[in-house]
Amino acid sequence: MQFKKSEALYKEAVRYIPAGVNSPVRAFKAVGGNPIYMEKGEGAYLWDADGNQYIDFCASWGPLILGHNAPEIVAAATEALAKGATFGTVNHYEVALAQLVVENHRFIEKIRFVSSGTEAVMSAVRLARGFTQRDKIIKFEGCYHGHVDYLLVKAGSGLATFGESSSAGVPQSFAEQTLVLPLNDAETFEKTLAAHGNEIAAVLIEPIPANNGLLLQDRQFLQLLRDKCNEYGILLIFDEVISGFRVGFEGAAGLYNITPDICTFGKIIGGGFPVGAFGARAEIMDMLAPLGAVYQAGTLSGNPVAMAAGAACLRKCLQNDFYIQLAAKTTHFVQQINDFTAKNKFPLHLVQMGSIFWLNFSDASQEAHAASDIATEKINYFKPLFHHLLAHGVYIGPSAYEVGFVSAAHTPEILATAADAFCKSIALSFG
Ligand SMILES: *Cc1c(COP(=O)(O)O)cnc(C)c1O
Repeated sequence: MQFKKSEALYKEAVRYIPAGVNSPVRAFKAVGGNPIYMEKGEGAYLWDADGNQYIDFCASWGPLILGHNAPEIVAAATEALAKGATFGTVNHYEVALAQLVVENHRFIEKIRFVSSGTEAVMSAVRLARGFTQRDKIIKFEGCYHGHVDYLLVKAGSGLATFGESSSAGVPQSFAEQTLVLPLNDAETFEKTLAAHGNEIAAVLIEPIPANNGLLLQDRQFLQLLRDKCNEYGILLIFDEVISGFRVGFEGAAGLYNITPDICTFGKIIGGGFPVGAFGARAEIMDMLAPLGAVYQAGTLSGNPVAMAAGAACLRKCLQNDFYIQLAAKTTHFVQQINDFTAKNKFPLHLVQMGSIFWLNFSDASQEAHAASDIATEKINYFKPLFHHLLAHGVYIGPSAYEVGFVSAAHTPEILATAADAFCKSIALSFG
């Protein structure tokens, strides 16, 4: 396998772009080597600049639930683009997408579109603060919500209750507005609310945390968040940027049947274009400008091409059995690999939720439901595994903490080939 063109492109890129990347997760820092320049995607496959072909499980980090270059999305986006890329006015595409989401999602009554997941969460938190007239928020260690200042925060050291910034450039006074708690820990959550409940505007969680491994939560814990938020007048925000339209049309809210006050979306909702969104009941959403006092705006929000693509994508997702088939395929794929690692006693098992999977470098008895549960002793095996997978024609995100995604374009045959590539690569990595 040759990477000559990728290497040349990367050499050029680092002269003009920091580390050659426009998002740090694209760098190969954790696995070594140069990032691979992808040139074409079709269905479950990617081709790089050197012509190497891969079965893709990165799926652009989640948006591509129909696979690459889905004909419905291409047709819808092309048709919209032919009439103009943007008008800066209201347009019928945004009405159609809003209607499609709201009418098929029990947990929101109104929605507003933005251009990224980060913006969606930022706007949702501002809305919660405006609604409750409180400033502080709670987030959980191991959840990612985009790169807003006051969300780039880790738990304070020692007995400190309020957060510490996890990035240079974030003022401590911003980080102090955020309390960071461990996932799936009812006791710490209840104690924190007993002490600070009346200062908290919002509890923000990825109900299916999928940005730092796949740290599945007990339904009971999510229900506790719901109940306690009611008790203290706090808004519960489900950040469904990954899980929304991924584990079901209604995301984790629908799956667990728990009603958040605000939902945030991104990734799948744009069908591969830059779209984010947030939705809630009308009483909350109507606090947004120009109706209400909470300001929020965007030059390219509701962009016609992106709205058309998003609607085409979601219409496919709404078809009968779409999610059932996707999850069933994924279960079969995951089981093949897990049977292999168990039989050979390799310290690796795949954790699955719907069409999301994660490589947990421990045996299956060691479950991870909080960031601190993640077994790290064997995680350095990810590096050889990643490169063996590439050599066997499989592309996954270049970090052990990233999840993989199965799309509608991954046929059972393609998944069988991929499972075989995984087993061979795993054997080589641990061998
Ligand atoms: C990806 C993601 C974000 C950030 O979305 P961007 O579009 O990258 O800004 C926020 N929250 C969650 C849960 C995500 O997975």
